[in-house]
Amino acid sequence: MHMTRRDFLELALVTGAFLTANPVQALAKMSYDDIMRFKPVGNVTLLFTTDLHAHLEPLYFAEPMNLVAPKKLMGKPGYITGKEFLKYYKIAPGTLEAYFTSCLDFPKLAHKFGKMGGAAHITTVIKNVIAERGRDKVLVMDGGDTWVTSAIGTFTNGKSVVDWMTLTGFDLMVAHWDFTFGKEIFMQRIEDLEKGGCEFITQNVVDELFGDLIFKPYSIREVGGAKLGIIGNSFPYTPIANPKQFVEGWSFGVREEQMQQFVDELRQKHKVDAVILLSHDGLPLDMALAEKVKGIDVIISGHTHDVTPTAVRVGKTLIVIAGSHGKFVGRLDLDVQKGKIRDFKFKLYPVASNLIPADKEAQKLVEKYKKEVTKKYKLDEVIGEAEVMLYKRDTFFSTWDWLVGEAISDYYGGLDIVTSPGYRWGTTVLPGQKITRDHVYDYTAITYPLVYVMKRTGEQLLTVWEDVADNVFNPDPFYQQGGDMSRMWNVEYSIEVNGPQYNRIREVKIGGKPLKKDKEYMMAVYGGPPPPPDMVHPDYKPVPVYDILIDYIKKKGKIKVRTEPNVKVLDAPYKVYDQCYGG
Ligand code: MN
Repeated sequence: MHMTRRDFLELALVTGAFLTANPVQALAKMSYDDIMRFKPVGNVTLLFTTDLHAHLEPLYFAEPMNLVAPKKLMGKPGYITGKEFLKYYKIAPGTLEAYFTSCLDFPKLAHKFGKMGGAAHITTVIKNVIAERGRDKVLVMDGGDTWVTSAIGTFTNGKSVVDWMTLTGFDLMVAHWDFTFGKEIFMQRIEDLEKGGCEFITQNVVDELFGDLIFKPYSIREVGGAKLGIIGNSFPYTPIANPKQFVEGWSFGVREEQMQQFVDELRQKHKVDAVILLSHDGLPLDMALAEKVKGIDVIISGHTHDVTPTAVRVGKTLIVIAGSHGKFVGRLDLDVQKGKIRDFKFKLYPVASNLIPADKEAQKLVEKYKKEVTKKYKLDEVIGEAEVMLYKRDTFFSTWDWLVGEAISDYYGGLDIVTSPGYRWGTTVLPGQKITRDHVYDYTAITYPLVYVMKRTGEQLLTVWEDVADNVFNPDPFYQQGGDMSRMWNVEYSIEVNGPQYNRIREVKIGGKPLKKDKEYMMAVYGGPPPPPDMVHPDYKPVPVYDILIDYIKKKGKIKVRTEPNVKVLDAPYKVYDQCYGG
């Protein structure tokens, strides 16, 4: 996508970049400089990305309208969205920064500023900071959810992304969805990663029987003359949130007591100057963890896709998280002297792919893999057009998930309910934008894509939904799993998020009629652990969700789905489509 003169002028207004005689020509450069401007501090630079979800190419990705939380957590980082987000971080509406961090006027700003992220553009940012700072002062880290969940990632078994990480110069990594390739492929990718110079660290995965560590728990690095101890935490709930079969025999969990031991070991035995936690715990959990585990100086968080324009402070710990989908590269400069952090400076570089040129080598690599995958999966084939914005974020409802419900119901027929997982990744398709097969994979390319149809009683359904609601709304982040509420197509309900445990959901209607506890309903589901074979309805063959969607979108052509949520929140504010994305 190229920028027009008008775009440049508009960008100039927001960046204040009218300083040279030829604004239009100079601006592309100016804007790039504006994005990259950073006065280094101290002797250490930490660069980090997280939750790329294998999006090697630039994309649109709107931040959520709502991140509804229990009362105790509302208004804290991790639970601020839209206008409130801009106010909290003092970001002017309509600016590039606002476009990257808030849902407000997303389609309008998307036309103005263009796509976000892209591996080759991230590489440019990282290489330039390294060039300016010196390799010995920089540590490059990734927080996981990196290799899988896009066509190019999933259908190359993560190899495309690992090759890019090697080319870019990543030093350390942790994981989550990456485990869903299964142990064999996962360990192969780790071998590739380590051959390329990037170490995989994780202290919270142990052998189920003997409790032995599976991975190196931490790494000790000399950076800018300081000795840093970096501990890794991969996603603590991987065997619950994703099928257990992929990590059979491995036990996860936060393991905060063991983490404390490693912090102490690093400080006392190895005499490190600072302790850093590279984590895929999620921001709210890491904020709670910082109160429990003593002696962590910095937490580089991931998983919940939050954006922290300024560092969060909990006691003496600094916590930062660099969003998701390649939208940001985080940079934390530290002045580390004699076992103490004396000063710091933090920034999220917005990866505006129109303004940050692609690194040529990285671009070549991405194109090579894109071509390879496209041959088999026809990624660029246009299959329809979006009439409303398609997105998958928000605590309860998103247009994409409703479309999934419609498509699956249309495919099988005779269904009462379709449920989709409340994961936070995907892409955004703007109103009027053509939908390609690649977009469908962006939302659904998982290693266990089958849709299962089964009969469940009203009571069984409610039990599962209450359980999910507790994973999302438990006031103690240690009991949350950092996702959103499951999406239920053809269902309407009310919810009291601060209501009693396992009794938050009210007034459930299925197909417009009140749920009956003893009635059996036909339900289709994907994205969860596969049900036992005898539970699957024998007349309904499991089919990959992306195949169903591609066929449905082709059949419909123009895609228009409801934008009003099917959920009523009884005890917390809940924004609707127009308040964020515009009418
Ligand atoms: Mn994750």
